[in-house]
Amino acid sequence: MTSAQTPTSATAAGQRPTALVWFRDDLRVRDHPALRAALAHGPTVALYVLDEESPGIRPLGGAARWWLHHALADLAASLERLGVPLVLRRGAAAAIVPDVAAQWRADYVVWNRRYGGPERRADTAVKSLVRRAGRQAESFQASLLHEPWDVTTQQGGPYKVFTPFWKELSARDHRHPLPAPRRQREAPEPAAPGDSLEDWGLTPRGPDWSGPLAEAWTPGEEAGLALLKDFLGPDTAGTAVAEYPEARDLPGRPGTSRLSPYLRWGHVSPFQVWHAVADRRRAAPEGSAVFASELGWREFAWHTLFHHADLASVNLRREFDAYPWWLPSGGRSRVKHDAGRGRPREASPAVVRGDAEANRLLEAWRRGRTGFPLVDAGQRELWATGWMHNRVRMVSASLLVKNLGIHWRLGERWFWDTLVDADTASNPFNWQWVAGSGADAAPFFRIFNPVTQEKKFDPDGSYVRAWVPEYGTDAYPQPCVDLAESRADALEAYRELGRGS
Ligand code: FAD
Repeated sequence: MTSAQTPTSATAAGQRPTALVWFRDDLRVRDHPALRAALAHGPTVALYVLDEESPGIRPLGGAARWWLHHALADLAASLERLGVPLVLRRGAAAAIVPDVAAQWRADYVVWNRRYGGPERRADTAVKSLVRRAGRQAESFQASLLHEPWDVTTQQGGPYKVFTPFWKELSARDHRHPLPAPRRQREAPEPAAPGDSLEDWGLTPRGPDWSGPLAEAWTPGEEAGLALLKDFLGPDTAGTAVAEYPEARDLPGRPGTSRLSPYLRWGHVSPFQVWHAVADRRRAAPEGSAVFASELGWREFAWHTLFHHADLASVNLRREFDAYPWWLPSGGRSRVKHDAGRGRPREASPAVVRGDAEANRLLEAWRRGRTGFPLVDAGQRELWATGWMHNRVRMVSASLLVKNLGIHWRLGERWFWDTLVDADTASNPFNWQWVAGSGADAAPFFRIFNPVTQEKKFDPDGSYVRAWVPEYGTDAYPQPCVDLAESRADALEAYRELGRGS
């Protein structure tokens, strides 16, 4: 019998039963049902697993790794104040979690649920291994207001359209957030210590590009709650949430909450946001409703991912499989994408480009050198700070997939690597939304014009000036594509889809 199979003998040995709480995308101590259940059970130890081995789990991008490093340091400090040690381990969850449970002689193993396909598979495997070893395993709802299997249409299926989904979900009661737990009186007997965070090498070295990220963000629970509090302000008019319906579209103003990475990493829970916003309904009725519905889009993205685990690689509307978006030729992804669907048909040369030109355009887009100031400002903001304003994300994504004819999956991957809020649901969901291939997506013919969008949403030019200081000088590149021509080509390619070619 291996140690992982030995039934716990904590009680037999006269100790209080020990609990193991496994942290994942819920790096906080408040409103954490699994932590609470563990502490109620007995002396508690916490675990975080850097899992880059379980099949299908997406390795984190560079900006996310930076965030995770600081988030774990923050969590370790919060847990220490509660007397709870945090063990760090690296490897496949199914190997690590049962092993740590055995080392610490935990008879109760708990976590908050995840909703991606590979993550659920890993959790199911862990649950059965833990139980097979004679320990109790339990999971809780903490990261979404709804369980995706619990909110269904009248026909019993998943929602495909946002408005009825949100109507249903926002009419429900959502539990109040749980308070911060008290310090545990008795810590478990120390066992194997685990890895050192520094040794994981999550922060960039040679070169260290994280300076502007650190200026822009403080990862962690207190910082997230402080942002929420600032955004909602006192229970009076004139707060950011009251102005949100107009200000949220202006990238030059601090008109949105900037909570996305805090929600992504679970420093702040959707229950905390939901109830905090509900408390502002009287002072800012419209603003609080619009803001709450943005939380709804996050829920809808996860709802969609739960029902379509391959959201990052497959068009939800399969007719788009025939759209001639550019992917690197011979690339693995293209082969997989086109498998069983025959060769992509010939398309107009302005939509499908040769590799050299497409690579050049993709690189210009990534680096913020497209010659469209709003897009370039956004891409540079992203590169520097790991975040981009939502309006600019939409315009920039639209330029890539519609005017440059490059596959949304390449844009999605770039965002995955560079966003601090990169999310396995929201990122592919929104890329497919912009591309037209997604759930309740923007109609394909809605092609944002980056020039008119700039005039409308950055009227005083403050956003562009902040990120593209050379705009208006000879150093700034010419537009990399003709907007009118490329738009017409994209629409023509789309019309051909309808002809079923
Ligand atoms: P606020 O306007 O203050 O909104 C509050 C919260 O609502 C956000 O923090 C976020 O959690 C949620 N939210 C708002 N809009 C959306 C949306 N369209 N979809 C899902 N949730 C939303 N958001 C991510 O969290 N992770 C991603 O990886 C991501 N990738 C995106 C890719 C593209 C191409 C686009 C167009 C949007 C993407 N978004 C993503 C959605 C949105 O841009 C960000 O959530 C938003 O900019 C975050 O800023 P904020 O916190 O100030 O938002």
